[in-house]
Amino acid sequence: MTTDSFSSLPLTPAFLANLDLLGYHKMTTIQEQSLPAVLEGRDLIAQAKTGSGKTAAFGIGILHKLNPAWFATQALVLCPTRELADQVANELRRLARSAGNIKILTLTGGSPMRPQIASLEHGAHIVVGTPGRLRDHLGRNTLDLSKVQTLVLDEADRMTDMGFYDEIAGIVSACPARRQTLLFSATYPDDIRRATASFLVNPLEVTVQAQH
Ligand code: ADP
Ligand code: MG
Repeated sequence: MTTDSFSSLPLTPAFLANLDLLGYHKMTTIQEQSLPAVLEGRDLIAQAKTGSGKTAAFGIGILHKLNPAWFATQALVLCPTRELADQVANELRRLARSAGNIKILTLTGGSPMRPQIASLEHGAHIVVGTPGRLRDHLGRNTLDLSKVQTLVLDEADRMTDMGFYDEIAGIVSACPARRQTLLFSATYPDDIRRATASFLVNPLEVTVQAQH
C-alpha cells in the first residue's frame, strides 16, 4: 500500500468504496499532506492552487467526524461566493453518499431568506454559506452554530479580499471555542495570516507549490 492511496487513511470500507466510485483512486498532493492531520483533529492551514482537490481534503475530514444520528449543525464551511458554496455543497453530497442520511444546507445571498429559515427549522448536519448571509441569519437568531465541531474557511484569501473580515470574525465567535478549524487558500500573505491567526490553534501548515 502506498501512502497516496486513500486506503492508508482510517476510513470505513463503505467510504473508501464510494471514493472509488467517484473515480478518486489516489490522493492529490494536498490531500496526502493534509488528510492524516485533519483526521486526527488538528487545525490546518493549507495553501494550494485551484483544482488541487482542496474540497475533499476538508470534506473527508468533516464526514469522518460527523455523527449522522445527531441532528445538529456539526460543520460549517465559509465560502466567498454563492457559486463556490454550491460547488462545495455538491462535492460534499457526493462524498457523503456512503455515510447515511446527511443533510447539507447552502445559505448564500441572492436567495430569499424565508425558505432558508424554513430549511434551518428542519435542521442540517452541514451548512455551507457565504459570510454576509450567515451573518444575517445569526443576527436574526435563525442559525445555531453552538454545536459546530469543524469550521472551514475555504478560499480565505478571496474572502478577506472581498472585505468579509468582520463578518467572518463574528461567525467564528458564534462557534464553540473547542472545535477544529481548517483554512484553505490559494495564497497566504501576511495580512491574511495576521487576520486569521486567532481562529486557529497550533495549526499544521501545508503548502503545495504549483507544478510546471
Ligand atoms: P480546489 O478546491 O483545490 O480548487 P476541488 O476540490 O474543486 O479543487 O477539486 C478539483 C476537481 O478534482 C474536482 O472535480 C474534484 O472532484 C476532483 N478531485 C478531487 N480529489 C480528487 C482525487 N483524489 N482523485 C480524482 N479527482 C479528484
Ligand atoms: Mg476549492
